[in-house]
Amino acid sequence: MRNYYIAGNWKMNMTASEARDFAEDLVEELKNASVKLMIAPPYTALESVSSIVRGTNILLGAQNMCNKESGAYTGEVSPDMLLDLDVSVVILGHSERRIIYGETDELINEKIKLALDKGLEIVFCIGETLEERESDKVEQVVRTQVTKGLDGIPESNLDKITIAYEPVWAIGTGKTATPDDANQVHAFTRSLVSDLYSDEAAQQMVIQYGGSVKPDNVRELMSQKDIDGALVGGAALKIDSFRAIALFSK
Ligand code: PEP
Repeated sequence: MRNYYIAGNWKMNMTASEARDFAEDLVEELKNASVKLMIAPPYTALESVSSIVRGTNILLGAQNMCNKESGAYTGEVSPDMLLDLDVSVVILGHSERRIIYGETDELINEKIKLALDKGLEIVFCIGETLEERESDKVEQVVRTQVTKGLDGIPESNLDKITIAYEPVWAIGTGKTATPDDANQVHAFTRSLVSDLYSDEAAQQMVIQYGGSVKPDNVRELMSQKDIDGALVGGAALKIDSFRAIALFSK
């Protein structure tokens, strides 16, 4: 019922021309993929990548977005600017935005609402730090992030939202949550969606795992009942590794 969804977050990597060349390779290599695919280049490469992925099976994503529509917000990028470049998905609530740039659950909620108003799909990231895991606060953190992030969002909009569970201690560290540990948090997240909305909404919610996903761990992670895809950072920057992840089921 739920389709696998594999997304690549390129973070602050690649110039516009490097990104265009890489996107060309991805389009060719992934044209027969059976999963939903998205790549999120940096803002400065969105235009060049947009022209390459248009009309293909790869969706164009942005890594962030302003919570305002326009105006005096130096350095920010609005949803209309993204839509103008054929961006259809935006990643919101990434731990690097939360931790390095101080984004709060309230701000992320505003961004999610504005993105929905504008017709964008969202990859909504949640996840605990190592300290929170070691002090047994995983469920508390996930509950707060999901409840506040989705506050005021009607069930009819949930089909535009994918949740990405990304334990912060597993991002870019080479440490991956064991498939079983990750699945437990995914199942808990799904139960939260059921409590907040309905069992039907929970069963339809696509929940990606993120945190050092690589070709050699993707299959086992994806075989877990509540893991429906991956948000990939480092391994999304090389054709061989992203191809192997995107085609994990082949
Ligand atoms: C990410 O930043 O979303 C991520 C999962 O990174 P990595 O795959 O490098 O751990």
